[in-house]
Amino acid sequence: MECIFCKIINKELPSKIVYQDEKVLAFEDIKPKAPVHLLIIPKKHIPSIDQLREDDKELIGELSLVARRLAKEYRVSGTGYRLIFNVGKDAGQTIDHLHLHLLGGKKLLWA
Ligand code: 5GP
Ligand code: ZN
Repeated sequence: MECIFCKIINKELPSKIVYQDEKVLAFEDIKPKAPVHLLIIPKKHIPSIDQLREDDKELIGELSLVARRLAKEYRVSGTGYRLIFNVGKDAGQTIDHLHLHLLGGKKLLWA
């Protein structure tokens, strides 16, 4: 499997893991774009939201709940944070394993 995030899940590549359960893993982004920049991913390899199936809809809810929990842990709940799914080329998706960005800790610019 050539997928970098699958390698992170399988511990073939190191990362700073901040949360994990049966279905979800979260870790620090290697090139943070904000004081808090975490990536929350399903352990199942899904390339992007564009390939999401009906069966996967619960998983997206779980990613959101992990995001909420981490926002609290990283103390950005009060000040606010942004959750982003980049989908495809124009959005700048560079890793084809679905991931939710959690950004916070500063005033975020839009687009
Ligand atoms: P995308 O641009 O696909 O939405 O986001 C991919 C993110 O993954 C980028 O923010 C990038 O910094 C991060 N990233 C790329 N390679 C690695 C890696 O090997 N480890 C970690 N922790 N983050 C990575
Ligand atoms: Zn993968």
